[in-house]
Amino acid sequence: TTFRELGLSAPILRQLEKLEYKTPTPIQAACIPMLLQKKDLMGLAQTGTGKTAAFALPLIQHFSEHPAKPRPRKVRALILSPTRELASQIHDNITAYAKGQNLSTAVIFGGVGYAPQFRKLAAGLDILVATPGRLIDHLERQTVNLDQVETLILDEADHMLDMGFAPALKKIVAKIPRQRHTQMFSATMPDNIRQLAQAFLQEPETVMV
Ligand code: AMP
Repeated sequence: TTFRELGLSAPILRQLEKLEYKTPTPIQAACIPMLLQKKDLMGLAQTGTGKTAAFALPLIQHFSEHPAKPRPRKVRALILSPTRELASQIHDNITAYAKGQNLSTAVIFGGVGYAPQFRKLAAGLDILVATPGRLIDHLERQTVNLDQVETLILDEADHMLDMGFAPALKKIVAKIPRQRHTQMFSATMPDNIRQLAQAFLQEPETVMV
């Protein structure tokens, strides 16, 4: 399979070529066509399998084809990640994939000042990558608004539960419209992940790699 055959658009294919991604990884081949069709997804995959591009490329393609005019007023897609390192990595990848496509993106996490985050959130974002704890702080301060989120992605969901983020995740998801596109990624599928998937996803496809 090639990236083109998965249904990705020319601007994205150009970026992938620059990054020297030659062929899709198995999770990319399985997920990208489904995600372009907006199917909810439970993806069982470890880090290193290429799952970031699997969820990010369809998202970027959707937003470059359906831009918010004149710019997003609130958050259009939310990606939750357990740690600041992982959140930053996801955001760096998204920046590389979306280069030249005029999307607004940001990453927010704890342990750093609020002021730059207030400014980014106030401007509206196509894609926000966040850790659950700091996002809850912003929700409580009412400096982020999630009522226009169209796509929700939980990355390393098992890791987030292990870190005690279950209550935070529930609070966050309660602020997002039920009518949305939801994806969950996890390396393992214990009972608590199964329950979370049942609560958050609608008729999901499952992909295992
Ligand atoms: P991830 O599992 O998303 O953390 O990705 C692991 C690494 O593989 C990252 O450094 C990506 O830039 C890289 N990568 C992802 N997909 C591909 C691909 N199709 N071809 C080559 N490298 C890739």
